[in-house]
Amino acid sequence: MLVIDINNVKDIVKKAGMQSFLKELIIQLKNDFLNWEEFEKVSRVASHSAKGVIELMPISNKVFYSYKYVNGHPKNPILNKPTVMAMGALSHVDTGEPLCLSEMTILTALRTAAISALAGSYLAKKNSSVLTLVGTGAQSEFQSLAFATQFNIKTIKYFDVDECAMIKFEKNMSQYDFELIRCKDSMQAVKNSDIITTITADKTNQTILTTNMIEKGVFINGVGGDCPGKTELQKEIVENAKVVVEYLPQTISEGEIQQTGAEVVYCELYELIKGEKKGRVNSDEITLFDSVGFALEDFSVLKLVYDLAQQYDIGKRIDLIPNQKDPKNLFGLLI
Ligand code: NAD
Repeated sequence: MLVIDINNVKDIVKKAGMQSFLKELIIQLKNDFLNWEEFEKVSRVASHSAKGVIELMPISNKVFYSYKYVNGHPKNPILNKPTVMAMGALSHVDTGEPLCLSEMTILTALRTAAISALAGSYLAKKNSSVLTLVGTGAQSEFQSLAFATQFNIKTIKYFDVDECAMIKFEKNMSQYDFELIRCKDSMQAVKNSDIITTITADKTNQTILTTNMIEKGVFINGVGGDCPGKTELQKEIVENAKVVVEYLPQTISEGEIQQTGAEVVYCELYELIKGEKKGRVNSDEITLFDSVGFALEDFSVLKLVYDLAQQYDIGKRIDLIPNQKDPKNLFGLLI
């Protein structure tokens, strides 16, 4: 079985090139979402505790099965640990044989950014050039680069309650050709913006955006509200926007729509991708992608990384699964 660790992911992304990797991932996501009906889908299984959540996210089609283990613990950075950590596996459906075991903390950031940008390609104005980030933690650079694959992003405005997180973001983004504008609060950050990504971490109902901050024509990519009791937007914003979700049975208890109920939902993302529903229809609409993260996105990124690892001969084969001449002689492995 192939093991893909953090260094392997780094090598794969480096070899492919960050922007090319993100573009390829967006194509992979699009293709998988086009085949939405072929997947056996289920809401993730969540284990909640006082400080966070641990989730298992399985999905399969007729060929592959994947799952991801992921946590969300907003206070972890105080302990020098990431808020979100993940790992996952891809298996063959015909035999059940595990094909690869992979780090997925970086892959989660990549796939979350890629699905945000893909949703944005249907929901944001085509000429969007100003991106706002509220929250400049672990996901923020990935979000910026993914949107830049779909839009001519010239300016990034940002705000985080933690100044160190903004300094870190500026350092990482200085190698790219964006105008970076640090803001004193979210109100200033969202002004004159085309795309707003909210990506904060707090295990509570926060109000990062209120209706008076929302201008006509904006696309809101709500990413940080992804758990029961953990939201970022004022209820009225959700009620008045064109709301698109990933998988309604999961989002109804985890997304911004836990505040409103399902009646505000316009459609699931796959319906936009298949052309069954129209995305943005004019430049005044306020659109919202109520992102919580769905197992199909993990399936897509795992599949892509597994293919690239084989193509580039990256990763380590280890004996995690028995591979003996006589499959019935399991005991023989111990003598
Ligand atoms: P992180 O802890 O690295 O960063 C979060 C940042 O938000 C921190 O820098 C923190 O200071 C900032 N913040 C908290 N409250 C704020 C506020 N009121 N205003 C401005 N900034 C504020 O976490 P991360 O890995 O970047 O993840 C961010 C969020 O996104 C988490 O809530 C996580 O659960 C969620 N997430 C969602 C998906 C998805 O698919 N929807 C995927 C990954 C992560």
